[in-house]
Amino acid sequence: MNPVPVVVIGAGVIGAAIAQSLAARGVGVVLFERAQVAALPAASAASAALLEPLPGADPNLASLARRSLDRLPGLCATLRDRTGIDPGWSRPGTMFVALHPREAEWLRVARLPLYDSIGESPAWLDARTARDLEPALSVQVVGALRIGSTQSVDAPAFTRALVADAASRGATVLAGVGVTGFRREGKRVVAVETDGGEMRCSAVVLAAGAWSASVARLLGTDVPVVPVVPQRGQIMAVVPRATAPRVTHVLHGAGGYAVPKTDGSVLIGATHDDVGFDPSVTPDGLQFLGNLARELVPGIATEPVRATWSGFRPVWRGEDVPPCGPVANLENVMVATGHGAVGMTVAAGVGEVIADLVTGA
Ligand SMILES: Cc1cc2nc3c(=O)[nH]c(=O)nc-3n(C[C@H](O)[C@H](O)[C@H](O)COP(=O)(O)OP(=O)(O)OC[C@H]3O[C@@H](n4cnc5c(N)ncnc54)[C@H](O)[C@@H]3O)c2cc1C
Repeated sequence: MNPVPVVVIGAGVIGAAIAQSLAARGVGVVLFERAQVAALPAASAASAALLEPLPGADPNLASLARRSLDRLPGLCATLRDRTGIDPGWSRPGTMFVALHPREAEWLRVARLPLYDSIGESPAWLDARTARDLEPALSVQVVGALRIGSTQSVDAPAFTRALVADAASRGATVLAGVGVTGFRREGKRVVAVETDGGEMRCSAVVLAAGAWSASVARLLGTDVPVVPVVPQRGQIMAVVPRATAPRVTHVLHGAGGYAVPKTDGSVLIGATHDDVGFDPSVTPDGLQFLGNLARELVPGIATEPVRATWSGFRPVWRGEDVPPCGPVANLENVMVATGHGAVGMTVAAGVGEVIADLVTGA
């Protein structure tokens, strides 16, 4: 093991996956988390964590998603066995629900061939079949596109399991310790400064989610801006009673989604609010979520709400896709952030790519 560790900044799902991949390859890692692991308002504590292939997205992002999705079933089983934390993995599949003939047309003409082209075997369901499969759906349904491969996890549990596994493989996890600065020698960062003192490092991976831009500024004025901004997502968990219809697929429609979880809850989300770092759950947000539930899944819209919360998606405002690799002008600093609404989907792939880069694989 390298006596001078790789420092990973941020223990959201991205930093956690990177630390786990590095530790699994025998690389010495110190993971700094300024708050607690997977605590709100970090995105990884808030996430719906529906994990779908991304056909039609930028090819780099789509291939990160593929690498991640291929890895997930085995990874989640390993995490559960090794850490005792159940990541809440399931494969519910997805129904993209058309509530209007125009949406049905678009799904059949534009989306179905796209999923077909990546071997997903999409099926078009008429309204009756869709409602037979998902009785909570609205009677307005005119049809649905079904794909079977969509996976799901419990976002905070998955993140904690990754961190626990990294620790069990030798990583040092320092929660409650924020990174406050960097000590450089030329084009290398030789140490990170933290609330708890300075630590020498062989390399740095910046994975501080929506806070990455401000951490990157501490690297120096010769380092390009990391154009990541926070986007608040408000979301709610409904726990349908035994008399209510069961939701078994991830359901997309009416401008949002309903995601069934292994604990019996259904997450209804989410808003996309450009309000900076304001973590409030608002009347507007709750109205959006209530309307969404009524429109998409009226069968559970009168069931009890267990909780509402919000978190900050790290949204990339650069011209290219979100980065997963070296920072310009520095030799030993990498950045992995800005994955917006698909960070959970790509995390396991990002972890492997950064571990490949660090180890030269
Ligand atoms: C409501 C909602 C629903 C979502 N649904 C989905 C979905 O269905 N599917 C999907 O793929 N994605 C989804 N996402 C997106 C996904 O959750 C995020 O892209 C992903 O969690 C981002 O992970 P991250 O590790 O980059 O950031 P975060 O989880 O925000 O973690 C960053 C961490 O860095 C820490 N940090 C910040 N500064 C410092 C510092 N100076 N020192 C040390 N630590 C620091 C923070 O405390 C935080 O814990 C959703 C997001 C939200 C908010």
